[in-house]
Amino acid sequence: MKNEIKHHLTDDLLMAYAAGNLPEAFDLMVATHLSLCDHCRARAESFDAVGGCVLQEQDASASMSDGSLAATMALIAQGAPKVKPAHPSCAVLPTPLQDYVGGDVNAIKWKPVGMGVKQAILPTTSEATARLLFIPAGAAVPDHSHKGIELTMVLQGAFSDEIDRFDRGDVEIADQSIHHTPTADISEDCICLAVTDAPLKFSKLMPRLFQPFLRI
Ligand SMILES: [Zn+2]
Repeated sequence: MKNEIKHHLTDDLLMAYAAGNLPEAFDLMVATHLSLCDHCRARAESFDAVGGCVLQEQDASASMSDGSLAATMALIAQGAPKVKPAHPSCAVLPTPLQDYVGGDVNAIKWKPVGMGVKQAILPTTSEATARLLFIPAGAAVPDHSHKGIELTMVLQGAFSDEIDRFDRGDVEIADQSIHHTPTADISEDCICLAVTDAPLKFSKLMPRLFQPFLRI
């Protein structure tokens, strides 16, 4: 049975993902959410279609130097990976995350960070950080604020904080203005994917992310 996802990605993030300009950690978050969320996958596909139209129009209206088409196609080939729907099995980690840890939760190399909470930093480019978080059932992550933007998506169990309750697939988007104390549900250990853009400020990054669309 699929629970209904209530907390989704923003259009800004989906557009930047379609443009292929997100830091790797954020790409991973988007790809993982899309593999669980039909709603966002449909929106992401519509942004992909916009990108396709732009390419087609440029091909028709401008003359380009020799080799441009091949170079463009090579860039497209390097672009964001196609998102496959999650395996219908009992896997906790959707496919994009399994690719990073080399398997399901048993393959995660946890490091304790205190109070029973564990984390595993995933190997991505340095502009942003992706980590898996393990919060024991009933435990709280110490109250914290954020230097930049932090996206947290639940993969197993659920957590609640001052904002709302978050189940598998739900994404919480926190920024500098938010102080919160996420607490895992008592019934099950909670596993989350969290990405942060510190020390970069995401707000400063956004105009660059949108350049491909601003040129339309
Ligand atoms: Zn969604």
